[in-house]
Amino acid sequence: MTKTCAEAILKALQDTLDLPRLVKTNRDPFETLIVTIISQNTADTNTQRAFENLSKRFEITPQALANADINTLESCLLVGGLYKSKAKTIKLVSKIIHENFGGSLQPVLSLPLEQARETLTELPGIGPKTADVVLLFSANQPTIPVDTHVYRVSKRLGLAPANGNYEVVRMSLRSLYQAKDYLLVHLLLIAHGRKYCRARQPLCQKCPVNNNCPSNMLEDRNA
Ligand code: SF4
Repeated sequence: MTKTCAEAILKALQDTLDLPRLVKTNRDPFETLIVTIISQNTADTNTQRAFENLSKRFEITPQALANADINTLESCLLVGGLYKSKAKTIKLVSKIIHENFGGSLQPVLSLPLEQARETLTELPGIGPKTADVVLLFSANQPTIPVDTHVYRVSKRLGLAPANGNYEVVRMSLRSLYQAKDYLLVHLLLIAHGRKYCRARQPLCQKCPVNNNCPSNMLEDRNA
C-alpha cells in the first residue's frame, strides 16, 4: 500500500462517513482511562450509562475510586459487561495511580510515547489499546489505538499486513499516515467498520472505498 493510496482511502471515508458527535479529546486522562476500561466488550450506550452511574456515586479521581466500596462499584457498572472484573481493575489501578504515581497520570503521559505506553500497560488490566486511547485522546501523543474494527478494516483494505498483530497494525497505520491525522484515522476506520466493513457480510457493493480494496475482489459477498 502506498501513502498516496492510503490518503485516498482516508479522504473517501472522510467525505462519506459521519464521525461520532461526542468525541472528547481534552478529557482528563484518568477519566479517559476509566471510560476505556468500562468500554471493553461493552456497547457505547451502556459504557456511557455505566460511567454516568459511577460519576453520580463517586468523584472520578484515583483516590476516590481506590477507596470505593467494591460492591458499590460493581452496582454502578452492572449495566455493562464483565462488571465484576472491571470494578476490581478500576479499584486496583486507581490505588496504584494514587499511591505510586502521586495521584496523577500526567507525569506518565509526558514521557516519550513508547515509555509512556510501557508504563501504562504495566498496570493491571490495561492493554495496549487502552493505553493508546489514553495517550491519543488525552495527551495528544502520536499513536493509533487498534480496536476490533480498526484491526479488521486495516487488514481488509491492505493498510496493514493480513497476518499482523496489534503492534504490526498500529505501526503500519502510523507509517502510512501523518501524525496530525491519527485521531481521524482511528475514528474513520471504526465508523467504516460499523457501517460498511462489518465483520460478517461487509457491504462491499455500497462501500465508498471498494475501488481501493483488495478484499473486494476476492469474492462478491453481496451477489
Ligand atoms: S470493499 Fe468490502 S472488504 Fe473492502 S473495505 Fe469495503 S466493505 Fe470492507
